[in-house]
Amino acid sequence: MAECIDTRYGRGGDEVPELSDSDDDDQWQCMEEENSEDGQVTCPFCDRLLSSVSNTLQHCSAEHTVSLVDVIRKHNLDDYGYIKMINFIRATKCSAVSLAGLSEGAVPWESEDFLRPVLQDDPLLQTDLEELCGSEGTGPFPVPSSGAPSYGVLLQRDQTAEERVQRAEDALARAMDDLHKLKLLAQGLVLSAETGRGPENMGAVAELREDEDEAYFSSYGHYSIHEEMLKDKVRTESYRDFMDFNPEVFKDKVVLDVGCGTGILSMFAARSGAKSVFGVDQSDIIYQAMDIVRSNQLEDRVTLIKGRIEDIKLPVEKVDIIISEWMGYFLLFESMLDSVLYARDLYLADDGSVYPDLCNISLVAAGDAEKHRDRLAFWDNVYGFNMACMKKAVLPEAVVEVVKAETLISEPTVIQTIDCNKVSISELEFASDFCIKITDTTDCTAIVGYFDIFFDKGCSDKVTFSTGPQFMKTHWKQTVFLLENPLPVQAGEELKGRITVRKNRKDPRSLLVTFDLPDWRQTYSVQ
Ligand code: SAH
Repeated sequence: MAECIDTRYGRGGDEVPELSDSDDDDQWQCMEEENSEDGQVTCPFCDRLLSSVSNTLQHCSAEHTVSLVDVIRKHNLDDYGYIKMINFIRATKCSAVSLAGLSEGAVPWESEDFLRPVLQDDPLLQTDLEELCGSEGTGPFPVPSSGAPSYGVLLQRDQTAEERVQRAEDALARAMDDLHKLKLLAQGLVLSAETGRGPENMGAVAELREDEDEAYFSSYGHYSIHEEMLKDKVRTESYRDFMDFNPEVFKDKVVLDVGCGTGILSMFAARSGAKSVFGVDQSDIIYQAMDIVRSNQLEDRVTLIKGRIEDIKLPVEKVDIIISEWMGYFLLFESMLDSVLYARDLYLADDGSVYPDLCNISLVAAGDAEKHRDRLAFWDNVYGFNMACMKKAVLPEAVVEVVKAETLISEPTVIQTIDCNKVSISELEFASDFCIKITDTTDCTAIVGYFDIFFDKGCSDKVTFSTGPQFMKTHWKQTVFLLENPLPVQAGEELKGRITVRKNRKDPRSLLVTFDLPDWRQTYSVQ
């Protein structure tokens, strides 16, 4: 059975027949206020209250000399037609004589508008047509086999429509809430600007953090980012191959997919033999994942839960495997690994495994004078003006772009290996000495960062991929740390230094990376 926890609004339900908007709503409102008294039936032709539907029919025949059943038969009315007729009589105060005088088939209540009840809880509308015809004593009436929905179905549709309205109202309330938060945020920012206290204004910062995280998850709500990830063959095929080629790892296992997005990894895991898979995502893309999982008849094995992994409670105590595609630029940008480690520490069984399990962060030197000029020297003369001060803004921002393999001028060097089964969150901020072996005599213009990923633990068929410039490009590209001034280097020379990677306290999802070399020190932000 599907166990998708689906809180999306604006979904589901049968098609509701469209009611025309063109009517005067006030008029309907007034009519609906004319409630019939509990249990009693108001005659459609006069004000008389009758104790039952059959008494009403008899009253109509006796007092108004019209048999409603005859009219139904004459015009071959189905449930719809009957409901419209009753509402028509009530709305237009049509007399019994003119109703009886209508020629066959020529009914004035064709408009869908007459589906709207004139009296609230009108017992005449709640009676089954067949029953109604029987109650006048004329025996069962052959209900037209037009395939039109019964009154019960109509009621159900009405209820569905009401639920939709309710969901829309809830959505509006949430939007209002968001607006309110934005207002508070703006007020906080104005206040901090006015008092000159800056980000120490804790209220504003707290709001900012919350809103930033909302922005993070809402960016994952749009299909395009998932399309880009799915179309990244290096990435997605590596996950696929790891699961397809190592079914012994997944057979009968309980799997948690942290940040399931469209559900692709959850479905790979299910296909590879997992007993059950729990996919968790805070972003709205999970609603698509719910449809996707159902469309692929995997709802028996894949359970999707909307929420932050840190906020939800899994319906199982432990899982055997955690899979996740958490990697950001320069591996750690986004800090999503923190969430995977949180899930590992809370849910992973003692003998369980996190995949991918190993990751390397590497550096390599590049010499691309043209690119360097284009990024920095460009500002020396912009249409004849000196804008060199702009370099101070350009330099400290690492650039995410594809680096041409032919511009590499060193061997790559690994600066950090992360074992996802062992690492702690605090170790995701680190400092590491490095030694880059130069292979070309030229000017070094940048240091390039990238990462490699390994699906290794217990795999008979190990899978790995690299985001390095020497390999097929991925959506992570490379992270380029531009040197302020090109540095002349000799083949065989070693560039020794120290790199420090830490979270930006003002925006914990972004990174600050500092390079320390004998004659050069620079901090870059990866954002
Ligand atoms: N697994 C998918 C999507 C990867 S993108 C795929 O491989 O295609 C990362 C996803 O993780 C995003 O959809 C994001 O919304 C989700 N995510 C990030 N942090 C999360 C957290 N703490 N809790 C739940 N979902 C999270």
